[in-house]
Amino acid sequence: MNRSEVLFERAGKVIPGGVNSPVRAFQAVGGKPRFIASAGGAKMTDADGNVYLDFVGSWGPMILGHSHPAVTEAAVKAAERGLSFGASCEAEVEMAELVCGFVPSVELVRMVNSGTEAVMSALRVARGYTGRDKIVKFEGCYHGHCDSMLVKAGSGVMTGGVPDSAGVPEGCAADTLTAGYNDLESVKKLFAQFPGQIAAVIVEPVAANMGVVTPEEGFLTGLRRICTEEKALLIFDEVITGFRLGLTGAQGYYGVTPDLTTFGKIIGAGMPVGAYGGRREIMEMVAPLGRVYQAGTLSGNPVAMAAGIAGLHILKGDPGIYEKVNRMGDSFRKELKNLVERFQAPCQVTGVGSLSCLFFTKEPVRDYVSAKTSDTEAFGRYFRHMLGRGIYVAPSQFEALFLSAAHTKEDMDRTLSAAEDYFKGQGGSL
Ligand SMILES: *Cc1c(COP(=O)(O)O)cnc(C)c1O
Repeated sequence: MNRSEVLFERAGKVIPGGVNSPVRAFQAVGGKPRFIASAGGAKMTDADGNVYLDFVGSWGPMILGHSHPAVTEAAVKAAERGLSFGASCEAEVEMAELVCGFVPSVELVRMVNSGTEAVMSALRVARGYTGRDKIVKFEGCYHGHCDSMLVKAGSGVMTGGVPDSAGVPEGCAADTLTAGYNDLESVKKLFAQFPGQIAAVIVEPVAANMGVVTPEEGFLTGLRRICTEEKALLIFDEVITGFRLGLTGAQGYYGVTPDLTTFGKIIGAGMPVGAYGGRREIMEMVAPLGRVYQAGTLSGNPVAMAAGIAGLHILKGDPGIYEKVNRMGDSFRKELKNLVERFQAPCQVTGVGSLSCLFFTKEPVRDYVSAKTSDTEAFGRYFRHMLGRGIYVAPSQFEALFLSAAHTKEDMDRTLSAAEDYFKGQGGSL
């Protein structure tokens, strides 16, 4: 047994499934998970010393690449001043000023410790503000693991074999209504069915937890229009897209303004950070100003804030980073599409900016139903082939391929050449 296998066996004795987050277990693709010992730039090194070109980027945060020296230095310096105070510190103010400065729809922002917490809190605020209980979410969108959002969720829930999680009381899920992504009619129907009862529509503006599904022309603006007409709030879950499609996130990229926004991943540069914010009058509902309670012992943690701020400063200081990763994403998708066509593989290449996905289905993917037509066995074979070539893509069909500023043209060429060899070896069958 190699060291990763030994560690996985040890882990299995004391951690459910040996992992602290389900998709890490490689269950959807077969094979044993690698334990990572260190990471730098676009590469990760496992416990046995194998080096991988990484396209997971810790599931999104690592847009600058792993172990960016300025981010690490900021975190270390902050740690030397104290790990946590349980009282306010300057870094929280600076972080909030940065976020409000980048994202015009966010006038007040509250820091939390994960994307899940951000979503859970934003939903509570939406309900408190509107005095309504029901929430519309979209099939295949993942909003973290809070009870009400584990209905037709994406990410690991999609490969788990069950559409919804056990342990969620019917009452919790009863107020969650699901609509089809890119299907405005299904949203209108819900509003017609539950007039005056829907507090908010929550959406991943680019759905990146059922693979990557981009919003069709008019979808996001349509949601905005419907929510305004129905006096419901529009919540953009930008835990992945925030500070990834640009400093203004998907809302800036697509020019649609939500009422509330949730952040995570990049905002903490790899530290456990989430945030939610929005229009002043709505966010003034949050305690101690208003009657919506939300708190956190470690929220606004000085070390996490320092890392996040350092990352955001780098992104702000060099707009070339977004140009580079977005352009690299465009050309990667173009080359991958060429390969798919050349080998007549039943595959779809999707994505936007630095988010991409290779779906193993002959059907165009525009929502949960079409994403689910993917041949996950074929994806598993592809995944194992790539891993064997030292290329670490997400261990599930229903996740994004994340690019970072540390990826190079050579890295992309190497990846395309490994993919080409996969298609060659499959003789058209996959
Ligand atoms: C990752 C993710 C979450 C959950 O964030 P955690 O930090 O894992 O709790 C919520 N929404 C979206 C869109 C995500 O991608």
